[in-house]
Amino acid sequence: MKLFGVTDVGRHRKDNQDSFVFRELDGAALLLVCDGMGGAQAGSVASSVAVETFSAFVEERFAQGPRDDPEWWEDTLAEACAQANQKVFELAQANPEYRGMGTTLVAALALPGESYVVNVGDSRCYLLENGMIRQVTVDHSLVQLLVDRGEITAEEARRHPQKNLITRALGVEPAVACDLLRVETGQGSRLLLCSDGLSNVLPDLVLLRTSLEERGPEELCRRLVDMTLEQGAPDNVTVVLAEL
Ligand code: MN
Repeated sequence: MKLFGVTDVGRHRKDNQDSFVFRELDGAALLLVCDGMGGAQAGSVASSVAVETFSAFVEERFAQGPRDDPEWWEDTLAEACAQANQKVFELAQANPEYRGMGTTLVAALALPGESYVVNVGDSRCYLLENGMIRQVTVDHSLVQLLVDRGEITAEEARRHPQKNLITRALGVEPAVACDLLRVETGQGSRLLLCSDGLSNVLPDLVLLRTSLEERGPEELCRRLVDMTLEQGAPDNVTVVLAEL
């Protein structure tokens, strides 16, 4: 398995409130992207605390073993999400300067054959396989609701003035509902996780076309970030990739 991830502050923001991790864990890979929100430094605090708490929990579970049934993987992701939510929420409650902060979260435990994905908010997971691209996660956002109702197209959603409004975030309530997904990941398939700073700028077909041109995860991640910067990168941009 080959992994890579990179982030960039973009062309308009002063600081980077995205956080990410990619890590090999005993035959599996942990991929994680969080996009924080909140005034001053709060957004960065929310996303980095979520990434740290989530990763630490997953590593602890791996150290305990046994993990032969699918439910173990889903349960690990769901519990990691719950712990990250609680940690960010508690911090926000305890510090006035962090009040109201929150973060998106998309994470994958990637392994040959089948991978497990969890998401809250509008950071995404895509599957690239056999010359095709599929968005695995469904955004928790206002524009996604409009797309579901048939009021706007996915392309219009990318340009919508309220595209930043998310309907679910980690750390803003005592508990959070997360979506758990299973994805078949055959040999050579790739899982790509990104923040909206990437997916709002590059359409799916551009992601696909570029993935067919670039070889390894590092080249592909760097190329996608460069392309986003070339297009003005109004937001922080993060991309993490695993090749199975
Ligand atoms: Mn963003």
